[in-house]
Amino acid sequence: MRAQPVWMCADQSCAAAHHDTTTRITSGMARLVLKFGGTSVADLDRIRNVARHVKREVDAGHQVAVVVSAMAGQTNKLVQFCRDASPLHDAREYDAVVASGEQVTSGLLAIVLQDMGVNARSWQGWQVPVKTDENHGAARISEIDGSFLTERLEQGQVAVLAGFQGISPDNRIATLGRGGSDTSAVAIAAAIKADRCDIYTDVDGVYTTDPRIVPKAQRLERVSFEEMLEMSSLGAKVLQVRSVEMAMVHGVRTFVRSSFDDPNAPQVDENGLPIGTLICDEDELVEQQVVTGIAYAKDEAQISIRDVADKPGVAQSVFGPLADAHINVDMIVQNISPDGKTTDITFTVPEGDFERAKKVLEDNREEIGFQNIEGASDVVKVSVIGIGMRSHAGIAAQCFSGLASKGINIRAITTSEIKISVLIDSAYAELAVRTLHSLYGLDG
Ligand code: ADP
Ligand code: ASP
Ligand code: MG
Repeated sequence: MRAQPVWMCADQSCAAAHHDTTTRITSGMARLVLKFGGTSVADLDRIRNVARHVKREVDAGHQVAVVVSAMAGQTNKLVQFCRDASPLHDAREYDAVVASGEQVTSGLLAIVLQDMGVNARSWQGWQVPVKTDENHGAARISEIDGSFLTERLEQGQVAVLAGFQGISPDNRIATLGRGGSDTSAVAIAAAIKADRCDIYTDVDGVYTTDPRIVPKAQRLERVSFEEMLEMSSLGAKVLQVRSVEMAMVHGVRTFVRSSFDDPNAPQVDENGLPIGTLICDEDELVEQQVVTGIAYAKDEAQISIRDVADKPGVAQSVFGPLADAHINVDMIVQNISPDGKTTDITFTVPEGDFERAKKVLEDNREEIGFQNIEGASDVVKVSVIGIGMRSHAGIAAQCFSGLASKGINIRAITTSEIKISVLIDSAYAELAVRTLHSLYGLDG
């Protein structure tokens, strides 16, 4: 029987089917998707190591689809080629260039697997096909027909898929935005109704914060979809945001683990638990912390417009033109006007849109009616995340006093039910993350 396209798999019965398979993490025959990121396939030696992980799962009797990224650094190089060729390049040609990194690694891994006696072949996005929208450079997957893949998996062949890419309605290669191989992997897992999607990376799971900047960060056994969504969108690049959204919607059991472990070592800890982090429903969490993690994002820029006329419609006159220019505005602070006449508005935009946002505002200066614009790109957004915040008061106050005790000034604040974000000078980024990590008892 042919598998349904991915979007037909979103109903509750399908999600439940995925959840019934918890025990298959370590035993029994399963259908698995294994995704390997850039550092995991950085050279031929690493690709051979990846092949050993794949072979271990095949030898255990599982059906295996593999999704690979480009070798570490390759996508950056390809992006730079496009920029150097022309700053205003055609996004469809950009996609033709940057998607090539994954084509190389999918072919190489298939060759290495065949060399080890494993029946394997490579698949490009268009061959599956992974269908996307036409938003080249940051396309969304619209549909995957997993039937051809499923047939091959059932025949015992390993499918090695190029991540990060698909085919758009205009029949051109489309890429999914940086870090998009995670999304490819989860989408493929949903399309072929995999029992689990393993995201192999250069750390052995999701940590309480980026272990590269806080050595005391601890690996989390389980994280809820909702918390992971916040962590990813607030800067924890261990999973692309869209991959978490997709895992949540389609009920894909997603397990983050290390590709750097010895493939032949037991893949469980001393308690028999698999080593990694399971992203799962909230009701599957074993113990609940008030604060689960701290994230930071350096790619924000702050804009303040001074002495804006304080009248109804002013926010629309500022944010309307920015929305028309497809610029996402994140944190917003508007002061109460002291004299009833003018006020200041501060907000953040992605750093890449900083210059464009200032120009849009200058172009609309008369309509908005303001004195001057100030901006800063040396800012960082630090966020405290945890579903336990819903039922605990005082978490924000603790955050503010912790930062104040280190002399860190807060430029803007946003909160939701399960997160608090503060905008601070980037010079204090690491100090702030470390301070909050200790403050909420997350240090190992
Ligand atoms: P890959 O190339 O495998 O896709 P990425 O570099 O995209 O890997 O993501 C893994 C990196 O994410 C880690 O090396 C780590 O520095 C970073 N990271 C940021 N926040 C976290 C976190 N909370 N837990 C684990 N890793 C994190
Ligand atoms: N190679 C792409 C990137 O570097 C996609 C990925 O690695 O997930 O963004
Ligand atoms: Mg990544």
